[in-house]
Amino acid sequence: MDAAACWYESQELDGAICLLREPYVNSFARCNIWLVRGSDRNLLIDSGTGLSPLAPVLTAIDGRPLIALATHIHFDHVGALHEFSDRRAHGAEAAAFATMPDEVTLAHLFRELEQPVTELPADGWTAEEYRVRPAPIAMTLADGDRLDLGNRHLIALHVPGHSKDSIALFEEQTGVLFSGDALYDGELIDSFPSSDVSEYRATMERLRELDISIGHGGHGPSFNNARKNVLIEEYLAGRREQGCPGGG
Ligand SMILES: [Zn+2]
Ligand SMILES: [Zn+2]
Repeated sequence: MDAAACWYESQELDGAICLLREPYVNSFARCNIWLVRGSDRNLLIDSGTGLSPLAPVLTAIDGRPLIALATHIHFDHVGALHEFSDRRAHGAEAAAFATMPDEVTLAHLFRELEQPVTELPADGWTAEEYRVRPAPIAMTLADGDRLDLGNRHLIALHVPGHSKDSIALFEEQTGVLFSGDALYDGELIDSFPSSDVSEYRATMERLRELDISIGHGGHGPSFNNARKNVLIEEYLAGRREQGCPGGG
């Protein structure tokens, strides 16, 4: 297959937000990749597994300057980050982006999947060779930092729990929330070595206070404010504390 062109599927949501996904990647490791177009620059939120070049696909969509942001350092969200220069992430794991060690990216979980992909990203590709390429961070983000796309402005929220460095992005003007793996409509995971349940609960209480128009998570379908609050209440009630498939 012509990997770069065919590896990703894209879906335009409202003319300014595009969802890209990797349909041939095992659903455990298939994250939502979001492209937000602004008048001055675009924002890429997560970059997938990196099994196939992502930058050429985005250039074909739109040639504006691009901020490439990682909602957190797990392999399924940072695999293609090295392809971009303006790389941003929360500071909690910033040093690890320079080397992308398995114990932080959890890339070994992908290598260990029974069927990591249903199509090969390149001839002769094997899962054993999978590593996340180093992608040193150009600018670290802290809670409250603003991302200026020209006509759109998003605020970074530090939302630890799933991972130490999880960030969400909220656009006050429109109520759009990009929540990474902190919150999505699926089994949430708080059992990784860097997960912290008490921090996760505090994150959920914070997200409950947000009034959103739509939430775009790191996995699964998008959700409205009512569904967001159901997901949060289920987690806080202890019914979503031991997730497995659906998100890494
Ligand atoms: Zn994750
Ligand atoms: Zn994930």
